[in-house]
Amino acid sequence: MTQAKRITSFHPPRRTLLGPGPSDMNPRVIATLAQPVIGYLDPAFVTMMEELKELMRYAYQTTNPLTFPMSGPGSVGMEACFVNLVEPGDKVIVCRNGVFGGRMLENVERCGGVPVVLDETWGEPVDPEKLEALLKANPDTKIVAFVHAETSTGAQSDAQALCDLARKHGALTIVDCVTSLGGTPVQVDAWQADAVYSGSQKCLSCTPGLSPVSFSERAIAKVKARSKGKVQSWFMDLNLVLAYWGETSRTYHHTAPGNSLYALHESLLLLQEEGLENAWARHQRNHEALKSGLEAMGLQYLVKASARLPQLNSVHIPEGIDDLTVRKTLLNDYNIEIGAGLGPLAGKIWRFGLMGYSSRQENVLLLLSALSAVLGEMGYKHDAGAAEAAAHGAYSAHHALAAKKKS
Ligand SMILES: *Cc1c(COP(=O)(O)O)cnc(C)c1O
Repeated sequence: MTQAKRITSFHPPRRTLLGPGPSDMNPRVIATLAQPVIGYLDPAFVTMMEELKELMRYAYQTTNPLTFPMSGPGSVGMEACFVNLVEPGDKVIVCRNGVFGGRMLENVERCGGVPVVLDETWGEPVDPEKLEALLKANPDTKIVAFVHAETSTGAQSDAQALCDLARKHGALTIVDCVTSLGGTPVQVDAWQADAVYSGSQKCLSCTPGLSPVSFSERAIAKVKARSKGKVQSWFMDLNLVLAYWGETSRTYHHTAPGNSLYALHESLLLLQEEGLENAWARHQRNHEALKSGLEAMGLQYLVKASARLPQLNSVHIPEGIDDLTVRKTLLNDYNIEIGAGLGPLAGKIWRFGLMGYSSRQENVLLLLSALSAVLGEMGYKHDAGAAEAAAHGAYSAHHALAAKKKS
């Protein structure tokens, strides 16, 4: 008999997640995950599903009946939008200003679509004027796809302007809201966006592995009118998924990841209890405090102020400072996870995420204090303590303003 290696229960280390996702879960969400499994057609489960769809519509600010969580991470929501909406030969304008726009392009190609790429410098938002020019040059465009909040750079694009242009030229829109949902305003109905997807583990601070999606009536009409054969993915074919998540029927499609869905129900409930606008304001407030601190340390943002995501702060790594050493030290000595740069920005930027439950004052102060100490040890010249003082100053200014508004 071969001797089995002695394995013990897995206990993850306690970290503070301040990177590009996942984010920390609220204790209420963690507790929900430990509830018993029940059947996916249990009446209690079905009631929870209906509430989940309602909470999701609130988060997305939409009345779209077809709003539900896909079983799978944000990438599954992305792929579901493309495989259902893009038929072979369909012309799709893909806006690419970071990693995730590049993945959209991959999806269009794999669906047999004809991509037209709008390339934008990484760190910049998508330029609506460039989109308009491309739409004029390509009047047969069926779909415009873009990322609202580019997590690889920290830039937010003007979703309203881009959706308006697409609609004016008769094209549908696919919008990536993975990092924006719950952190900055996502207004699906006001934008009149057609297919949107998000992820459970960014500003919703839930366990990874679920992707809230929402489809407009125009999008559903396009799926129903497909003339070039079935959706190539059985698992993601909306016509089939609807048998379980739709308005009228509840039949087996696949076994729903029950406990993850309870957790999403709880995290969306937390968002509703806080109020969307309060959640957006909290992300903004903590971003401003972090920014004051980072700038007091002499660090500079990658993205211009008007397009900066409060939940994803990208700063240039100072000259002569080793990227990996800083990230390793933060993780090993302070239990803080931050994000590295991707693609052309690898080794050039750090990405500090303040997403969902991670977006809290104590985390801003912890990060500034730890980063200042680590950089100091590496010989980076700055006024230790100035960063925290600047952040405290930003919070005080905010409190003073709030008090003035009240009186
Ligand atoms: C994280 C992310 C995704 C992918 O989500 P996963 O859950 O990792 O599959 C897609 N788009 C953006 C903008 C993201 O930040």
